Amino acid sequence: MSGLKVLSVASEIFPLVKTGGLADVAGALPGALVREDVDMRTLVPAYPAVKQKLGDAETVHEYADLFGAPARVIAGRTGELDIFALEAPHLFDRPGNPYLGPDGTDWPDNARRFAALARVGADIGLGELEAFRPHVVHAHDWQAGLVPAYLRYSGRPAPGSLITIHNLAFQGHFPASIFWELGLPDAAFTVDGVEYYGGVGYLKAGLALADVITTVSPTYAREIQTREFGMGLDGLLRTRAAAVYGILNGIDEAVWNPSTDPALEQTYNPLRIDMRGRNKAALQKRLGLALSVDRPLFAVVSRLSGQKGLDQLLHALPRIVDRGGQLALLGSGERWLESGFADAAASRPGSVSCVFGYDEKLAHLFQSGADFILLPSRFEPCGLTELYALRYGATPIVSRVGGLNDTVIDSNEAALAAGVATGVQFAPPSVEALSDAIDRAFSLHHDPAAMRRLRLNGMRADVSWRGPAKRYAELFRAIARTAA
Ligand code: ADP
Repeated sequence: MSGLKVLSVASEIFPLVKTGGLADVAGALPGALVREDVDMRTLVPAYPAVKQKLGDAETVHEYADLFGAPARVIAGRTGELDIFALEAPHLFDRPGNPYLGPDGTDWPDNARRFAALARVGADIGLGELEAFRPHVVHAHDWQAGLVPAYLRYSGRPAPGSLITIHNLAFQGHFPASIFWELGLPDAAFTVDGVEYYGGVGYLKAGLALADVITTVSPTYAREIQTREFGMGLDGLLRTRAAAVYGILNGIDEAVWNPSTDPALEQTYNPLRIDMRGRNKAALQKRLGLALSVDRPLFAVVSRLSGQKGLDQLLHALPRIVDRGGQLALLGSGERWLESGFADAAASRPGSVSCVFGYDEKLAHLFQSGADFILLPSRFEPCGLTELYALRYGATPIVSRVGGLNDTVIDSNEAALAAGVATGVQFAPPSVEALSDAIDRAFSLHHDPAAMRRLRLNGMRADVSWRGPAKRYAELFRAIARTAA
């Protein structure tokens, strides 16, 4: 089938609105699918930032009453992206974070807000817009989890559906009372439908009813089917095992390109890899670390949360510093981690330095100047940070979970002998295993030829969207064939 049409339904999309990796995927996939002959358009809520960036847009559909007030769908274009924006002021005309109110907690009507998004996604799927009748609807995360439910219970011929899990930790679980507002038939409130532990589970509904489930790495696809990583949904995912696929994310190679990156002190490429040294010096200077070519510089660019395992790094820190290494951290998030790292920096000036906050530009300098990038995550659906590290020749040191397992080739004896290693993996995610990995990093650092090999291998690894886009396109075609 050529010219396949796919509607993507997402609660955020880069560059219009972003809080995490979901926005990057939603923003990059449509462009990468063009060469696969897939026409993907995206439905997002018309938050103020979206409306402002979308500019001129035409009304393509109107609702007299969508969850309590009139609403309309507008169509516009930004860059290479074709966007349908759901303009429902009573639900989305709120500044700031898409999910959180000014006090930093969830908006109390999130259940309604994202049911509305899903409902409209399903309506477009069912052919309400003459101009765009999709063969497949692609729902992202719990915010679009009800799309497959609205399709399934519409009683009309429906297109196929695929749901992608970007992080199983967020599930959209609400009290049963919301069910009566959803406009779904009573038959939907069952264990095979949207019911979840007596309430309504939005992600659960998507996982139960979508034709295909994907997540963002093959290893995470296996892990979420186990009790340890399944966050209560492993049983359901096991029953759907035949429909579960893992497809890695790619990165935007134009934005993350060390040979053109304006955020660097010095651009470089695999042939001029030694020039990275100038970025290391710039990073040391910027962070107030002792200037040194020889001391290995370990770095972290991360949300500060339990998921990322950085409390383990606090415990393993003496291993870095006592052996003469340095640590640079760029992160924002939970208070207890911030204060732990702030204390570590205060007690080891010149060796440990932290920048708290979100700084996209500085993240680029970190990747270009660090010798090693540390990711001791307890779980990691895909991880983008290690992909940037590979591309920038900063050797990743990662726990062997999720996407970290699938993207970094451990420098064990066999991989070193074959000349294919790209980093260091450790397991399980523990202080001891992380400390051992740090020791291995020091050994590698003392062998410049081995280090050079690792960096070059990383820089030459294919971390683009080409492969992933091909796999999504294959699934979309298979779904469309079955639904037709
Ligand atoms: P997650 O989505 O779980 O936070 P990923 O590794 O998938 O983890 O994506 C994290 C992204 O956010 C990367 O692009 C990383 O560079 C960026 N990032 C995280 N923290 C910061 C920060 N404090 N400043 C700048 N960029 C950051």
